Amino acid sequence: MTITREHCEASDARDELAPLRQEFELPDGVIYLDGNSLGARPRRALAHAQDVVQREWGVDLIHSWNKADWWNLPLRLGNQMAPLVGAGADEIVVTDSTSINLYKVLANALRMQQQRQPHRKVIVAERDAFPTDLYMVQGLIASLGQGHTLQLLDDPQDLPGAVTEQTAIVLLSHVNYRTGYLYDMAACTALAHERGALAVWDLCHSIGAVPVDLNAANADFAIGCTYKYLNGGPGAPAMLWAHPRHRRDFWQPLSGWWGHARPFDMAVDYVPEHGIRSFLCGTQPIVSLGLVACGVEIFLKTDMQRVRAKSLALTDLFIDLVEQECTGMDLTLVTPREHAHRGSHVSLRHPEGYALVQALIARGVVGDYREPEVARFGVTPLYLRYVDIWDAVQHLKAVLQGREWAQARFHRRGDVT
Ligand SMILES: *Cc1c(COP(=O)(O)O)cnc(C)c1O
Repeated sequence: MTITREHCEASDARDELAPLRQEFELPDGVIYLDGNSLGARPRRALAHAQDVVQREWGVDLIHSWNKADWWNLPLRLGNQMAPLVGAGADEIVVTDSTSINLYKVLANALRMQQQRQPHRKVIVAERDAFPTDLYMVQGLIASLGQGHTLQLLDDPQDLPGAVTEQTAIVLLSHVNYRTGYLYDMAACTALAHERGALAVWDLCHSIGAVPVDLNAANADFAIGCTYKYLNGGPGAPAMLWAHPRHRRDFWQPLSGWWGHARPFDMAVDYVPEHGIRSFLCGTQPIVSLGLVACGVEIFLKTDMQRVRAKSLALTDLFIDLVEQECTGMDLTLVTPREHAHRGSHVSLRHPEGYALVQALIARGVVGDYREPEVARFGVTPLYLRYVDIWDAVQHLKAVLQGREWAQARFHRRGDVT
C-alpha cells in the first residue's frame, strides 16, 4: 500500500499525544528532527526562568535556599523523573554533566570491584560509544594508576564473548547515539552479573525516548542527559542513578561539601551522606537546574509506553517513506529495523551525508550529521506529527533528486552547525 500525506493526517487526527505539541515553543517553518541533541523549549520554561530570576533570586535572595528549597532541588528533580526510568524515591540526583557523573559512578564501581575482586581490571565499552564516555574512562584509569584497561567492542553481538573473569565493569549506552541501536538492558545486565561484573548504563539517548526500568533490569549505575529528549535546556544538569542495594558502598572521588553528611558543620574531615546525595559535589546551577522540571512535567502528562508506541510508529513511517520515495538514491539504513533494537532516531548513510544534512537545514528540516557519512534524524513524539515525517521525507527526496547537496558540499569544515 502506498503511503500518502492523507494517511499521515489521519494518524495525527487519531494521535492521543497530539495536544502535547502545544506545550512546546517551536519556530515557524522548521521541522525539528534534532531533539536528540537539544530538545525543544517547553513553553513554560520562559515563565519559570523569569520566576527563578525575578522572585527567587531577585526578591527572596539567600532565603531561597530554604524558601524555594533550592537545597533539595537535585533530589526533587530526581524523584520527579524517577517514573520515566523505573527508579524509586531518592534514587536519582540531577547534578553536574553526564561526563562528570560518569566519572563518579565509574570510580564507585571500580572501587567496589577493587575491594572484592581486585584481579578484575578491565572496563568493557563500545568503540562506537559517544566519545566522552571513553575519554572519561581513559582519564579515570590514568589517575587511578592501578593497571585498569579499556576493552572496546566492535559490535553489540560481541558482548557475550567479551565479558570475562577479568571484567570489572560493562559500560554501555542503552541507545547508541549514532546508529540508534537499543540494547536489552535486563539481558546485558544479567550477563554482566553472572560473570561477576557491574553494569553501568548511559541513558543519554534513552531517557525520554524509550521506556527504561533500571530496577527491573537490576542495573548497578546509570547516568544521562536532560537536555536531549527531556527538553531540560542547553547544558542542563544530568541525572545520576545508583541502585539502592549498593548504598553501603556509595562512594565518589569528587567529595565536595554538598555530599557531606553535615555540610554546615564546616568540619575539616569529609564524612559522606549515606544516600544518593553523596553523589553531589558543590553548589548547583539553580537557574538551569530549575528548568529541567518544565520538560519532565510534560512527560508526566502521559507515560513512556505511549511515547514509545508513537516513537516506533514515527520511525517506522520514516523508514517506510524513505523506501517508498527515495529508492535508488544511495541511502542506506543504519538504524535497526527490529523494534526491540531501535531507539528513537533514524540514521541514514549517504556518501554526501554532511552536505545532505546542510541542504536539508537550508530547507528548514533540522537533522544532524555524525561521522562517518551518517545523517541522523531524531524523533520526539511529544512535539512531532506524522505529517512532519511526511514533509521531511519529501524534502529529502527533493534534495537528492535535485542534487542540492552539491552546493552545500563546499562549505564543509570550519562551518559551525
Ligand atoms: C550527549 C551524550 C553525552 C554528553 O555528555 P555531556 O557531559 O553532557 O557533554 C554523553 N554520552 C552520550 C551517550 C551522549 O549521547
